[in-house]
Amino acid sequence: MAEKKKGSVVSRRDFFRKGAVVGAGAGMAVQATAQAPAPVRAGRIRFDHIADVVVVGAGASGLPASIMARDQGATVIVIDANHDIGGHAMVSGGRVPLGGGTSLQKKYGITDSADQVYLDHTNHRNREFRFGDRDLIRMWADENAATFEFLIENGVTFNDVPPAIVNGGTVPRLFVAKPFSDNLNETINGSPGSGLVRHLEASARAKGVTFLLRHKMTRILRESASSPSGGRVLGITATVEGKDVNIQARRGVIIATGGHTANVEFRRMFDPRLTEEYQTAGEPWTKQMAEGELAAMDIGASLWATSNTANEVGYTITKTIHIGCRYGYRNLKWNPKSPMFDRAGASGLTVQDFQNVILVNQIGQRFWNETDETYNFLNACLGTNGNMGKGAKVNGGGPIWAIFDSGAVQRERWDPRPPNVDQSGWFFSADTVAELAAKISNPYQLQPVPARALEETVAKYNSYVDAGKDQEFGKPTPKYKIQTPPFYAAWSTPILHDCLAGLRINRKCQVIDIHGRVIPGLYCAGESAGGFALHGLPRVTVFGRVAGREAALAKA
Ligand SMILES: Cc1cc2nc3c(=O)[nH]c(=O)nc-3n(C[C@H](O)[C@H](O)[C@H](O)COP(=O)(O)OP(=O)(O)OC[C@H]3O[C@@H](n4cnc5c(N)ncnc54)[C@H](O)[C@@H]3O)c2cc1C
Repeated sequence: MAEKKKGSVVSRRDFFRKGAVVGAGAGMAVQATAQAPAPVRAGRIRFDHIADVVVVGAGASGLPASIMARDQGATVIVIDANHDIGGHAMVSGGRVPLGGGTSLQKKYGITDSADQVYLDHTNHRNREFRFGDRDLIRMWADENAATFEFLIENGVTFNDVPPAIVNGGTVPRLFVAKPFSDNLNETINGSPGSGLVRHLEASARAKGVTFLLRHKMTRILRESASSPSGGRVLGITATVEGKDVNIQARRGVIIATGGHTANVEFRRMFDPRLTEEYQTAGEPWTKQMAEGELAAMDIGASLWATSNTANEVGYTITKTIHIGCRYGYRNLKWNPKSPMFDRAGASGLTVQDFQNVILVNQIGQRFWNETDETYNFLNACLGTNGNMGKGAKVNGGGPIWAIFDSGAVQRERWDPRPPNVDQSGWFFSADTVAELAAKISNPYQLQPVPARALEETVAKYNSYVDAGKDQEFGKPTPKYKIQTPPFYAAWSTPILHDCLAGLRINRKCQVIDIHGRVIPGLYCAGESAGGFALHGLPRVTVFGRVAGREAALAKA
């Protein structure tokens, strides 16, 4: 339920009490978000759509935001850059650990409270939450139970089994959503997260929320009396089919664009080692390009609690277990029947036992104990450049390859052929180790793997198997030699997942500028918001719901 103003010209006086607008205007081509916004000449502004609340991003935070805003009586438009709703949440595991005394907790006789939720998530012994913003965590704890009930009221169904304790908590809180259906066109990859977002989408549509898909926000429009970072947020500019549309938000714009992992420049502000070779989870379904953060920063927004990205806990950077494919995130194995499979390319070979492979860097050398799952392993991956010679990039560690032989294929019961592997640069085989080294090539492998180095690495590793001891990296009792052709190389570079830093918000999810002031009319939720290093759905659904409520209740 939103007003469509296609082609109409809205008098400037209707919307701007004073000053110019930052960001776009009639007849003005919208620049890429990364460029600084130029103030627009005073005059008439053409708005194509209008609503009380405009939500940017139809994922795990945007959908609750839209429903909650509509529940308060606001007209709501949700836009999404993708051709479908859902974002990362669509392909997620649907694990939603919310507590505080939910109906399902009570059903299983579990006592919990908002205070206990708060204490569990501010415990200084817990490295994950240690640097969180206490104000935000308090609000989140207070809204836990209400958000869980809100999800149920809006159609989400959870597996009715006793919950588990997660996130270092003291009380069982984890319930898992049921997949929406067994139709892959609806669920995309059959993931439980589809049950979360499809039910919320259905509820939002039934309540009158308007969805504009394939609309990509490029700019936030802000009224400005005297400086580019002054005044109220008025709406956004989005591109659709190469054209710009301006969408007015009478009460508020909610940024719910899902974070920044896929934006190499942006993520390197937090960790310069995260160069382009690192894949990001959730692709090729949706990408986290930091477009919400950048548009908000263009009009003065601040980031918040940035140290959280370096807490070295959880899935921020993830060791992949699905190897030999481009998109091999640990908790997402692409189904060949998925409508996205053409773009995903392959499912990957799932490593059950890292005794079956060695992992080498781009110069063919091992760098760590392959069975390690901790940040020691990931830090070793990120720093494995070695001496790459003149002109080499030296920030990230470069590609990581799993090397194994046909013995490993048998033990793991792999079928090393498409659609399990992607032979367009992510999986190679050869009859000798030297031939294998010569074949390894893709956009991130900037020079051939030296054949001699890879042969030496394999020979050395085989000697460790004979000796029963890995003298270099302490892999516990190396078990299997790499000796029976054919030999294989499979893409195994780590994958980036969570965004644990983003825009600064307050308890109402209002975005705060670099001077500590509220940016009137701008809200943020989800992985684009900073302050609380909690993984995934429990964080983003709560903040989304609160952002929707607060934006709807704001003065027009
Ligand atoms: C494989 C996988 C498994 C996961 N499993 C779990 C789990 O079991 N439990 C858990 O708690 N978390 C899980 N997560 C994490 C969880 O899914 C995310 O934290 C959550 O979806 C983030 O919500 P969000 O609203 O911030 O972003 P998203 O859900 O990603 O939604 C963002 C939306 O914004 C859109 N968008 C981006 N830029 C623009 C733009 N410029 N204009 C318009 N639209 C834009 C995107 O297309 C997308 O639809 C998983 C993630 C993945 C990838």
